[in-house]
Amino acid sequence: MIKYQIFEKNAQLIENRIAEACSQCSRKTSEIEILAVTKSHIYQAVEYAERYGFKAIGENLVKEASDKKQKIHSHLRWEFIGHLQSNKAKLAVKTFDRIQSVDRLKILKTLDRFSAELNKNLSILLQINTNKDPAKYGATLEEAPILFETALKCKNIKVEGLMTIAPLSNNRDLPKKCFDRLRTLRDSLASKFGAPLPELSMGMTGDMLQAIKSGSTLIRIGTALYGERKYK
Ligand SMILES: *Cc1c(COP(=O)(O)O)cnc(C)c1O
Repeated sequence: MIKYQIFEKNAQLIENRIAEACSQCSRKTSEIEILAVTKSHIYQAVEYAERYGFKAIGENLVKEASDKKQKIHSHLRWEFIGHLQSNKAKLAVKTFDRIQSVDRLKILKTLDRFSAELNKNLSILLQINTNKDPAKYGATLEEAPILFETALKCKNIKVEGLMTIAPLSNNRDLPKKCFDRLRTLRDSLASKFGAPLPELSMGMTGDMLQAIKSGSTLIRIGTALYGERKYK
């Protein structure tokens, strides 16, 4: 784990880059939030994020996050950004304030059921596979309307926006295409169903600037804050 002073410098650097991107596309920096992605790091990574003043952290494994959460008392928002299996759904509802990776009807209904059981109103984002990549999770653009329509009917679910993961690619235009597709989809869903989807979770360490220019409201940053992850 890096020292806090390094983390702080990294965070300031990212904020400077956000400011620069914003000035290039006439957006306000206050429109873009940083989600500190603490996955694979020890629980102190969450403390760093809170000490710096971030409001939310992201994790991609339910059990890992639940274990970390028991070690600390944080006032942060815990967001789930990994692929969610049904057998982890109940623990996920207990652990997280928002689940960004709702990508199919079955998991949506499972989450609604557990949220009701646990007396919770669960915030979610719908994850969209904007590149039709068969190796990636996410609803297709065609599946999105029925998923959204169903989510609107779930009593214990609050849909706040959309999320996508752009492909790693040498083609610099591809992430932009994916981000623009997500934004266009959001606009059409919001007008079709008369329900706003204000949150656009898009952009990571490698493509955050492009995502901001395409309208991101939440960039999910791991490597640029904490350094490279070491997987065991
Ligand atoms: C790991 C992860 C991130 C953070 O990626 P970095 O490149 O380290 O910034 C963002 N989003 C999702 C869904 C992730 O799994």
